[in-house]
Amino acid sequence: MSEVIDLLIHSAHQLCTMPLQDGGPQRGLSLGDLGLIEDGALAIDNSRIVAVGRSDELRAVYEPRTQIDARGSLVTPGLVDPHTHAVWAGERAGEFERRIGGATYQQIMAEGGGINATMQATRSADVDTLIAQSRLRLQRMMQHGATTIEVKTGYGLDTESELNMLRAIAALDAELPVDLVPTFLGAHAIPPEYADDSDEYVSLVVEAMIPAVAAWKAENWPHTLFCDVFCETGAFSLNQTRRILEAAKRHGMDLKVHADEFDALGGTRLGVELGATTIDHLVATPPEEIQALGKSTTVAVSMPPTPFGLGHSEYTPALEFLKADAALAIATDCNPGTAWCESLQFVFALATRYLKLTQGQSLAAATVNAGFAVGRGGEIGTLMPGALGDVVIWQVDDYRYLGYRFGANLVQQVIKRGQTVYRQV
Ligand SMILES: [Zn+2]
Repeated sequence: MSEVIDLLIHSAHQLCTMPLQDGGPQRGLSLGDLGLIEDGALAIDNSRIVAVGRSDELRAVYEPRTQIDARGSLVTPGLVDPHTHAVWAGERAGEFERRIGGATYQQIMAEGGGINATMQATRSADVDTLIAQSRLRLQRMMQHGATTIEVKTGYGLDTESELNMLRAIAALDAELPVDLVPTFLGAHAIPPEYADDSDEYVSLVVEAMIPAVAAWKAENWPHTLFCDVFCETGAFSLNQTRRILEAAKRHGMDLKVHADEFDALGGTRLGVELGATTIDHLVATPPEEIQALGKSTTVAVSMPPTPFGLGHSEYTPALEFLKADAALAIATDCNPGTAWCESLQFVFALATRYLKLTQGQSLAAATVNAGFAVGRGGEIGTLMPGALGDVVIWQVDDYRYLGYRFGANLVQQVIKRGQTVYRQV
């Protein structure tokens, strides 16, 4: 007797299920377990995956209301982008032209450019303007395969503007088919009015912003909300980072840290000590902190578009993290300053060349492991039964095309919770 289901995707040339490892992310050198099924099929009912296997087996069991013939295609989980700053107002194209011409970031900052320019534009935008300017970016990210996207605040840098960014993220989450995961990043930069007293700004973050964000969350956001700090020379010191993260933890937030993008201040060790969900950037991380991260449950997130966007040659030493048994994820870091990148496919191209990940490892880092990086491990980033029916059907038939080909969108169809939300014509 056949069982009626909502959707059956069948006849996939390759179907990559991206299994968990012992109920967790794929750690260390076991990264890249594809769970590959040839002539694969996937049964989805009521938004969730109910079965995965060979096409003949599933077609014998299920009677789908809708079916998709994925002949000649690769099928993977929807991609998960675990680190973006995708909500902002304004742009900095002129600044990029000046940087190409040799201007330094310090010169651009002194002229009112850099992150302050984005902060000013974001502060002067109302929530509707933020939504209008960010919608197309998030849609493009989805059209390139992302079905869950983490989005940080951090361009408001005062309580009301930071709350407005959260309101915009929540509204876009409700409006768009893609799921957004909000992160409060009030400690992204020290705003100009506190340039001479960064501790005073940290006090504002700890005493005013975090309680206000926690109150907003209690009313408006039933899911996880992260707090993140940019622990870096010229941003927040290790002690300031600790103050903020400990306050956020007391208010029930989960933690992330921007650490070791340029300088190693000890942010990785601190993040591990506080049980952070992720530590992100990890370019200049000292060997002993790589080891500490590898022994923890914290996920390492690398964003190769950032050094690429800056024209730098130093990337995350990904293989060192894998040798230390760390769980590695990759992300776009989409932001208007260093990496306006809306495609995880482009991240595959960079991760294979500069992080020396294989195509399969790159795919695992942006699916199953990225799910854990946003606190939704096992729920997204995998096609194992029980996970959400978030799927990408690709125009290519082999996973090894991902990262090998770049610069064009290889997505054929994006499915979110069992519904087609994008189809490339
Ligand atoms: Zn970032």
